[in-house]
Amino acid sequence: MGARMTIALHDPLDRPLRDLRISVTDRCNLRCAYCMPKQIFGRGYKFLDRGEMLTFEEIERLARLFVRLGVRKIRLTGGEPLLRTDLPELVGRLGALPLDLAMTSNGLLLAKHAKKLASAGLGRVTVSLDALDDATFSLNNGVGARAQAILDGIDAAAAAGLTPVKINMVVRRGINEHCVLPMARRFRGTPHVFRLIEFMDVGRTNGWRFADVVPARELVEMIDRELPLEPIAPAYRGEVARRWRYRDGRGEIGVIASVTEPFCGDCTRVRLSSNGKLYTCLFASTGTDLKRWLRDGVSDATIVAHLRGLWSRRADRYSEKRAISTGGGQGIEMSYIGG
Ligand code: SAM
Ligand code: SF4
Ligand code: SF4
Repeated sequence: MGARMTIALHDPLDRPLRDLRISVTDRCNLRCAYCMPKQIFGRGYKFLDRGEMLTFEEIERLARLFVRLGVRKIRLTGGEPLLRTDLPELVGRLGALPLDLAMTSNGLLLAKHAKKLASAGLGRVTVSLDALDDATFSLNNGVGARAQAILDGIDAAAAAGLTPVKINMVVRRGINEHCVLPMARRFRGTPHVFRLIEFMDVGRTNGWRFADVVPARELVEMIDRELPLEPIAPAYRGEVARRWRYRDGRGEIGVIASVTEPFCGDCTRVRLSSNGKLYTCLFASTGTDLKRWLRDGVSDATIVAHLRGLWSRRADRYSEKRAISTGGGQGIEMSYIGG
């Protein structure tokens, strides 16, 4: 599909459709307290059956249609994407499309899979890591996983050329804010980009309270006091992270302030859940069932026309409208929709 066939598609707030996040599974091998608390996502939890999930053929077909609508970046996510069987095969299919292909992973299985994914056509990875000390990390991830396993995954990703590796840290008040500086020190002077994320009120199970959010401004000040920072311009429209670089030239960090400094005005993302529902906002409570269209034999042209209509009516700006004092907790789970 050549770029000249693309017709620019903007929503009523003049936001182009550029990024597609695909959740390839709702399962995960961690139970991060802010995402899949183990009390809720325990033994009895009913995850999707295989037949309910989109097949690789279906994902590829939709990805091609989204490219026709202007999508230039796909991010594979989940749940934990590395739990999806034969993921390199999907990467190979999507890697053939004219776009930037990335993945967000918890890193636990990355040391094993990084090389295969890179050879299949994956461009970059973002790895989530919330602490370096095992006491904090194990408590946070709910299953006792060790930080060293994730650091090994990061090394393997870098060695395989999945660069620059971004490291995502979700910061929660009183839980891991003491880990911010050790993380900054650890990744400063490396080619990796360390990114701090405000704890968000996505889903209904993580007990979000505004009091648990450490505002981005405070995070930047915390680092700047010891390791002086200066702001840098965004690399492109729709970049969610505000960028800062160390004044001594030893790298940069990003801060994702979805709660205290929302960026809905530049939101160019759409999300596809593993069972084929499409969401135009992370905080949406209903999605459009694309799987049904695919399995009912709807033509490409009709699907594209529906998608155009959907985007041309899109008015989502949840984070900008969020009433922080009333407590959050709307919509569907992050592990299902894909972060
Ligand atoms: N399992 C993979 C991982 O953890 O990287 C991919 C899926 S995860 C849902 C994607 C990203 O969402 C991760 O970086 C995670 O830290 C972030 N995330 C999950 N719940 C969050 C929350 N309540 N607030 C902010 N970020 C969250
Ligand atoms: Fe799993 Fe990622 Fe959610 Fe943690 S943040 S529970 S690793 S999906
Ligand atoms: Fe985009 Fe919705 Fe997040 Fe706003 S709240 S940035 S519209 S996903």
